Parts: sequence; C-alpha cells; structure tokens
Amino acid sequence: MKIYTLFREGNFYKGNLHTHTTVSDGKLTPEEVIARYKENGYSFLGISDHMFYGHYPQYEDKDFLSIPAAEIHTSENGVAHHLLAFGDPEQTKLTAGKVDSALNQMDVQSLIDYIRAQRNLVFYCHPYWSRAEIHQVARLENILGIEIYNHECEMEWKSGNAEVFFEHLWWHGNRVWCFGTDDAHRSHTFCGGYITVKTDDFSHRGILKAIKKGSFFASSAREGEEAPKILDFYCEDGVAKLWCDPCRDVYFYFGASFDPEIWSYSYKSFHSDQENPITYREQKIPEGTKYVKVSVQDFSGYNSWCQPIVLK
Ligand SMILES: [Zn+2]
Ligand SMILES: [Zn+2]
Repeated sequence: MKIYTLFREGNFYKGNLHTHTTVSDGKLTPEEVIARYKENGYSFLGISDHMFYGHYPQYEDKDFLSIPAAEIHTSENGVAHHLLAFGDPEQTKLTAGKVDSALNQMDVQSLIDYIRAQRNLVFYCHPYWSRAEIHQVARLENILGIEIYNHECEMEWKSGNAEVFFEHLWWHGNRVWCFGTDDAHRSHTFCGGYITVKTDDFSHRGILKAIKKGSFFASSAREGEEAPKILDFYCEDGVAKLWCDPCRDVYFYFGASFDPEIWSYSYKSFHSDQENPITYREQKIPEGTKYVKVSVQDFSGYNSWCQPIVLK
C-alpha cells in the first residue's frame, strides 16, 4: 500500500500566501505586487496585509488566482503571535477590508478558533522572528501549519528558518504542514519563499483542498530562481521513496524511531556532487516509525521540504 501526501493526479502550481502591500506597511501597491508575482510565474497569491482581509479578483485570469488572506495578530504573555488566515471566496465568512481590531485583544487559541469559525484556514507565522517559545506554538490547536521558511525574516534578520519549531510540533503529536512564504514588505524580499501545490483542479476550491490535505511542498530560493521540485514522495511496503529535481543533499528523518546503534532518532542522509546529482533515493523505514519527513537541497543551497507522511 502506498501512503502519500501529494495527490496522484494533477499539475504543480507555485504560490505564496503571505505578502504585504501599501494597504498596510508594504512598499508596493497591490497592483505592483501582483504584477511582480505574475512575472515570476506564480499561479496564486494571498495578499495578507496586517489586519486587512485582502481579495483582488479583478487581477485574476485563467492562470492566476487571488486567495483571500489576512495577517491577524494578537499578543499574549509578551509574545506577538501572527496568524495567516486564508480562505475560499465562496466559503469565507470574513469580508474583504479591515478586520475587527478587537481581534488583537483575544488570546491566541481563541483567535485561531475564531478564524476557523469564519471558514478560513490558518497557519502560524515566523515563530523564530517573533521570539515565541516552542511550547507556546506546539500546544496550539486547529492550526493547519507553520511557516518553516519566511523569506523576509531570513533575508533581513536571519530568523526565517523554523525547522526546529516544525519538528517540535511533530514530536508533540501536533501534525501540521510546513509552509514557505515571502512576507515581503521590501522590494528585495519577493519570490523567495513559496509553496508548490499539486492538484487536478486549478480553482480556489481545488488549491485550498490540496493545501488542506498536504498535497504541496515548501521551498526557499531567491527571486528568478527555483528550489528543487519534489516530484514524488511516498511510503510503500516499509520503504520511503523520493523523486526530486537534481539535488546535492537528501535527508530522510524517521520520527520517534530510536536507533540504539547511534543512540539517536533514526535518519539517513545522502550527499552527492554536481557530476552525479541525486534525483531518486529510497530508504527502509525503521521499526517504530510514526512519521517520515524528507527535505532536499540543491547545489545553490535552495531547499524544499515535503509534508511528512504519517504511518501510525
Ligand atoms: Zn508577521
Ligand atoms: Zn507578514
């Protein structure tokens, strides 16, 4: 039996759900931002201004969707929690425009529950930049995921990589997905963090359904360049199998499976050189593994992270 997250049928669509414009504290207008992403081949975009639910259907065309989105904040015990809410225009109960400023008085779990009740999905933004403690994020319920990579935080303050937070959520049994985003405010922080969704239904509904089910991977690159694509990743008969664009490094991690030989949790990494780049690897899954994670890195240092596959 195959266990997978990427849907079997469909095409890949690149998008970003977190970015800013002059509607809040960004430097470019929504029109300029959308043009920038279209030039870079993006298929969908969430313009998520601070405390403003943005939806821009006037710029949609057959190859480009605007996903209604907002970045909504609250603070609790001295930590600012930023949440990314996004939804289907036909389902959302949030209306385009400013969101109620009373929301930033709520405790973070109540705010997440409120966003979900408005029929939106929500992921947790830039935990490292926010100086959130891991336990403050790990305990949150009803989040679909967290930003494993936030491009602006990484470019500006080297605080955009949240792999350690992502793993801690999984250690604690909080099975969330990982997202790459730009969070671009400034001109040089666009088109570096993104997700690539696989679906056979290129519509708001289809993209959101695929994201909800984990049919996507997260990436970090730079504008005008691509991180390696995850072409497929599944587990079958006790073996994890990965196909990707040519890579230098591939990392398999077998969650919660302890290997007494190395006195550590089980993992396997593969490394190569430019003459023999890695495009396929498989690895036997150790006994006791609850979930399998894989990430890859190419020769430019750009990364892609698969969604974990749950075995038990
Ligand atoms: Zn933020
Ligand atoms: Zn932001």
